Amino acid sequence: MKVNLERPKTQNPCQICTAKCCRNYTVSLTAADLEKLFRTKTDDIYKHIAAIDATGFDPKLVPRVKLTKENGKEGDFILCLVRDRKETCSFLGKGNLCTIYENRPRNCRIYPFRLDEKGGLKYVEKYRCPVDWKLNTKAAKSFEKDITIQKKEVHEYKVICDAWNGKTKEHRELNEFIEFVRQFKQNTDGHNK
Ligand code: SF4
Ligand code: SF4
Repeated sequence: MKVNLERPKTQNPCQICTAKCCRNYTVSLTAADLEKLFRTKTDDIYKHIAAIDATGFDPKLVPRVKLTKENGKEGDFILCLVRDRKETCSFLGKGNLCTIYENRPRNCRIYPFRLDEKGGLKYVEKYRCPVDWKLNTKAAKSFEKDITIQKKEVHEYKVICDAWNGKTKEHRELNEFIEFVRQFKQNTDGHNK
């Protein structure tokens, strides 16, 4: 889908919306997102992170991680934010405001767009945003900047997932994988400083 790059000159439409993007939408995560989530110092952050069946997600855009299923067998999963029974993100707070706004995942920052196969802007498939976004140049640049960063983050996360998936393990627990990601990030970010 081609995105029209002009935007209405009205107020930010998100301020008058009921955060439709924070409901029913799977927010997949990368290592960089996990690092930011830990920065929020939320109590028991693990409760906010889920692993769901990877079927239907493009592995080039959402890297897969091997974890142990309930039946004891290995399966491919993706990591995402937990949603409650009403399918709402567990970080959505009063007044439809994000409680971790400064540290929200990259996918939240670029919604309602996502990376297409060629690395450009594309509307997410299950489009629930009530706005027909028309971005001015500044806003488009801001989205493109986030998308460029996201490409790097997805690449980095894929390297980490490959390292984890290549390990010989009998049980692959989600919390163990998250710790593995944190260690990996600490080591590589430390080396890059
Ligand atoms: S991106 Fe769309 S759905 Fe999300 S808060 Fe803004 S207007 Fe609402
Ligand atoms: S992290 Fe914040 S912006 Fe992202 S879906 Fe949850 S409440 Fe919405």
